[in-house]
Amino acid sequence: MNMYDSELVAGILTNEGMNTTNYINDADVILINTCSVRAHAEERALSHVMQLTHLKKKRPGLKIGLLGCMTRRPGSRLLEDYPGIDFVVGPEGYRLLPALLRDEPLQGDPLKVGYEDYENIIPLRKTSLSAYVAISRGCNEECTYCIVPYTRGGERSRSSAEIIKEVEQLLKQGFKEITLLGQNVNSYRDSSLNFAALLDRISRMDSNLRIRFATSHPMNISEGIFEIMAQRENICKHLHLPVQSGSARILELMKRRYTHQQYLSIVEKARSLMPEIAITTDIISGFPTETEEDHEATVQLVREIQFENAFTFKYSPREGTEAFSLVDDVPEDVKVRRLEAVSHLVRDSMVERNQSMIGQVVSVLVEKTSRRSDEMMVGRTGTNKKVLISSDFVEPGFTVNVLITGCTSQSLFGAIYTPEKAHALA
Ligand code: SAH
Ligand code: SF4
Repeated sequence: MNMYDSELVAGILTNEGMNTTNYINDADVILINTCSVRAHAEERALSHVMQLTHLKKKRPGLKIGLLGCMTRRPGSRLLEDYPGIDFVVGPEGYRLLPALLRDEPLQGDPLKVGYEDYENIIPLRKTSLSAYVAISRGCNEECTYCIVPYTRGGERSRSSAEIIKEVEQLLKQGFKEITLLGQNVNSYRDSSLNFAALLDRISRMDSNLRIRFATSHPMNISEGIFEIMAQRENICKHLHLPVQSGSARILELMKRRYTHQQYLSIVEKARSLMPEIAITTDIISGFPTETEEDHEATVQLVREIQFENAFTFKYSPREGTEAFSLVDDVPEDVKVRRLEAVSHLVRDSMVERNQSMIGQVVSVLVEKTSRRSDEMMVGRTGTNKKVLISSDFVEPGFTVNVLITGCTSQSLFGAIYTPEKAHALA
């Protein structure tokens, strides 16, 4: 969502005659889009600010702006504590940026939590292959560890007519893939369509357009959505379904609204309708009061499900959230050990799953030349796996059949599969 927001900001500014640059020394303004989900993300942003502050000494006219969720930190005095920062703008204030940069009077507060959905703003996308399309902003869930509802406000869905217009535009521009975005993307609803109906509509627009969506909350994914996914070849068979923990007690403390058995049966249902589906997840280790038994329940769940990938995090207390009042009582070394145990297991299951694909022929959307070698191209399968293709004659934007010949935990390796090769192999 932050990457999409950066594209929105670039869209707003270029629309006002400003340009983006890839060279920091050419920039008159540097905007840092921040995330507050964990302390680590904030620390990284602030160390970046400190580095850039040195640049200001050499170039006094340079302006540094801090954007995004961090600008809502309770009790933060960013401008006072970090004199290198010239201004701060929250996730709903980006329309004010052009006036702010021109020192014009502002028609609003750049820090207010409003109901902005950036209608009519065309994001400046970096590639013409794959596009993010935000369909909702904010979140109405009350996960006790999470700062997002406070920094981004309550959930609001964009109008389906506007979303469809945007997808039509992307198709005209030649985009091959879109990712529908929302903090809780499946709870989308406007006056006429829910998420399943929107997905249905968009997937019929062009059978060659690949469609992805993220992120799914287990209590908002439905059989109806699975059925449409299973019916349409152009909807990618990938579900990012954060589980957070395998312990019923911790899930309750997190207010995730499901038990691990419910989560397992959702995964079972998805796999029964789409055997090839890739399930990825997010897991938090060391939530307050997490015992060895709770951790073992998570380990057990990870073993049972065999995720295709997982983002694993150490619990990070966030001021202003409900869990902040709980004692952060899992010692740091225990958090690290549990996090490592979970990540290792995930890596093992990734290797196993990737190995099981050797010998299969998969459809890959080619993205770019590999950084490893000019003679290799990189692309992705519908299940969102990275594939390195040993060929220099496939163009980005084409979808090709690839015979998988090898793998690591992170990538698959393969070669273009042609009917002649099929014949030779036979
Ligand atoms: N709306 C999305 C993204 C939320 S933030 C969703 O619900 O999945 C992405 C991930 O960050 C979460 O899934 C969670 O695993 C992690 N996260 C959020 N708050 C956290 C915290 N306080 N400490 C550690 N990890 C956290
Ligand atoms: Fe945060 Fe939960 Fe909303 Fe995701 S669903 S953004 S974890 S409150």
